[in-house]
Amino acid sequence: MHPDRADMPPRHSRREILKSALGGAAVLALGRPAPGAASARQIETPADPAVDLGGGLFVVTVPGEANVVARADADGVLLVDGGSASGSERVLAEVSRIAGGGRIHTLFNTHWHPEQTGSNVRLGGEGASIIAQENTRLWLTTDVTWPWNGRRVDPLPEIGRPNRTFYDDGGELPSGVRYGYIPDAAHTDGDLYVHFPEENVLAVGDAVSGDGWPVVDWWTGGWIGGIVGGIERLIALSDPETRIVPARGRVLGRADLEEQYEMYGVIYSRLSQLLNSGRGPDEAVEARPTEEYDARMGNPDEFVRRAFESQWAYLSPDA
Ligand SMILES: [Zn+2]
Repeated sequence: MHPDRADMPPRHSRREILKSALGGAAVLALGRPAPGAASARQIETPADPAVDLGGGLFVVTVPGEANVVARADADGVLLVDGGSASGSERVLAEVSRIAGGGRIHTLFNTHWHPEQTGSNVRLGGEGASIIAQENTRLWLTTDVTWPWNGRRVDPLPEIGRPNRTFYDDGGELPSGVRYGYIPDAAHTDGDLYVHFPEENVLAVGDAVSGDGWPVVDWWTGGWIGGIVGGIERLIALSDPETRIVPARGRVLGRADLEEQYEMYGVIYSRLSQLLNSGRGPDEAVEARPTEEYDARMGNPDEFVRRAFESQWAYLSPDA
């Protein structure tokens, strides 16, 4: 266990211990490490050009990269996520083109994944405020290897780690931009949202997917129950006109969130029944718990497997 993790709340520590205990067995049981497979799967290329949300706020899309939200203001540019390390240069060039070339003074990390934190080192080195939930910073101080594909992510150097973190209570910047924690663990245990009240926009990272089935990263805390809880929380922060910007895919509205809330609620209920009746991940995939949604959402097997496994840490008797 990393020494920095010693001060985490009890729920987190318990899960860490459980994950350590499960780790070896999970690698053996899953048995099909495919290094690099996740990077191809995790990012669906958004095809849209930059979406102008008004008020100097944009969704910046670069092929092969997750969505980035940029806002130009009098002091320069605020970013929500910064693309991957290999795409950073292209992402920042596109941000500069769209937002007018100002200095990037603030970078939010919606979570710790490398698809979101690849500009951290450069922007941290240039003096940007990097804002994240504390768990995101902690994941960036350690190496992570996902048991289902063997992909390893190295820690970020200190200069690239979030330098302004919070636990439960988010905050508000002088510009009126608000941010907060999504403690449900929809995607990881460090998900945050950024709310632009004037433009009525919520940037939500991977807590919501705008393009196909979501990635359930249970290794760093995400789970299927958290997807349901996170969407419910974001619905409560929205009104019918709110534009919701996920890390992948198109800009959504509250009606999309309501539809997803219902769908993931049904799937969660089925998966928890399968777990409670002693089934395993293979049987969960065979049971086709997403059947009526597959035509619209695509092949669910990877999602179902991860979503089923994600229950181990939260619903197993000793969890
Ligand atoms: Zn992610």
